Amino acid sequence: MKILLDPGHGLNTPGKRSPDGTLLEAAYNREIAQLTLSRLQANGHDAQLLVPETEDIPLKERVRRVNAHCTALGKTNVILISIHVNAAGDGTRWHTATGWSCYTCKGHTQSDTLADSLYQSAQQHLPGRRIRTDYTDNDPDWEENFYILRHTHCPAVLIENFFMDNKKDLAYLLSQEGRRAIVETIIDGIERCVLTLVSG
Ligand SMILES: [Zn+2]
Repeated sequence: MKILLDPGHGLNTPGKRSPDGTLLEAAYNREIAQLTLSRLQANGHDAQLLVPETEDIPLKERVRRVNAHCTALGKTNVILISIHVNAAGDGTRWHTATGWSCYTCKGHTQSDTLADSLYQSAQQHLPGRRIRTDYTDNDPDWEENFYILRHTHCPAVLIENFFMDNKKDLAYLLSQEGRRAIVETIIDGIERCVLTLVSG
């Protein structure tokens, strides 16, 4: 299984920071993606960063890279995790929205298997933290036709790791404990999913 980690945005993307400027989303996404990558590789997985560049790479190019892997390896042998931090506003003010969430595109697909695994992992590794769910379609993930989810051919999810414009979430995001738990959630979620897909 080829595991693709997509660190959202680029260091040149405007906005996308905490109101106090201590968290820049693109840099944080890259840090989490890199920590996750190292651990996955150490565990023997075929993992790589979809965007090793630090500048923003257009979504169309990100999708092209994912689908090139799908064509080469078969779309059931690739999974994509896009890593983000959520925000309730435009980064100029603090808000109260809180928690971790995971999105898939609309409809029931193999992406739901990946999202289910990540939610199970989040329940275990983020105790006491709000896990944002949407059960209107009988599964916990949120469905949104984000471009990178709609146009990629393999199972694909987008994770929103808490809110950078919530003071408590931000403190957790920046703590060693929070960083470790977020990375652990992604790794364990991927490993649960790989087991399910391979045995299923
Ligand atoms: Zn983002």
